[in-house]
Amino acid sequence: MSNEFELVLGTRNAKKVVELRDLLRNDPVCLKMLDKFPTSVEVEETGTTFEENAILKATTQARAISAWVLAEDSGLSVEALGGQPGVYSARFAGPGATDSDNNDRLMRDLKNVPLEKRTAWYTCHACLSDPDGKILISCQAHCYGRIVAEPRGVAGFGYDPYFEVPEYHLTFAELGLAVKSVISHRAKAMRLFLREFRPLLSKQSAVVQVSSM
Ligand code: IMP
Repeated sequence: MSNEFELVLGTRNAKKVVELRDLLRNDPVCLKMLDKFPTSVEVEETGTTFEENAILKATTQARAISAWVLAEDSGLSVEALGGQPGVYSARFAGPGATDSDNNDRLMRDLKNVPLEKRTAWYTCHACLSDPDGKILISCQAHCYGRIVAEPRGVAGFGYDPYFEVPEYHLTFAELGLAVKSVISHRAKAMRLFLREFRPLLSKQSAVVQVSSM
């Protein structure tokens, strides 16, 4: 048995779960998935900023399941598109869009934009809500790159095959999880998050006994 902080990941995106699990692997947290909680809800992302949506997801789920929830909202912004798709990244090509639909729309919109004008950045806003819906931690980070014309690589998800990191001349989908977990928007946001979260771990109210089975 060990003392661990029970933390629910407020996302149903399996690829994000893989990354978040990896980023939290060295901390004494017992990570739980939303689908283990029958009272969890679908949260409509009605916010106009990443911060608003992250707060909405964290507080709504925390109250619904009476647990500590870590939620994040993230997305891609392209300078030549005035910051689009931004908070609409998951549904850039419309409601229910797949990653492939969204990437097709991105390529259509950037068709006449030369490579040197394809600056883009990912944003991740992460929040921690207590079971009453009070936000205790809220932080945001970015990762800068550019959008290439042809997809490269197979790792990651979403826009990763088109998002090239200039320092590496490789896309996130080519770089893979090992590098993404150091330099990505989500990795940076989680580092900021952990700096504030670690002191909370000593508070007994949120600590549960967990067997290491
Ligand atoms: P959310 O689930 O509402 O936060 O939407 C996230 C969307 O932003 C995803 O569906 C992707 O389209 C995009 N996105 C966020 N983070 C990443 C990433 O690390 N790689 C690729 N796409 C991402």
